[in-house]
Amino acid sequence: MLTECRECHHLVSNQAPACPQCGIKAPGLSRRQRIISWVVFLTLLPIGLIGMFVLFLLFVG
Ligand SMILES: [Zn+2]
Repeated sequence: MLTECRECHHLVSNQAPACPQCGIKAPGLSRRQRIISWVVFLTLLPIGLIGMFVLFLLFVG
């Protein structure tokens, strides 16, 4: 899906890793979406690690 680059307003894919016009990373994501994705990532990462640790204890111990 095409969306506006948050920096230069050039039309880019929201899947594009970088804007072809200005080169900014993740041009399709607004600042708010980037913060939300970081919060989700930082929330899920420790949960995943704890889950793996618990499974490890269950299988080993
Ligand atoms: Zn741009």
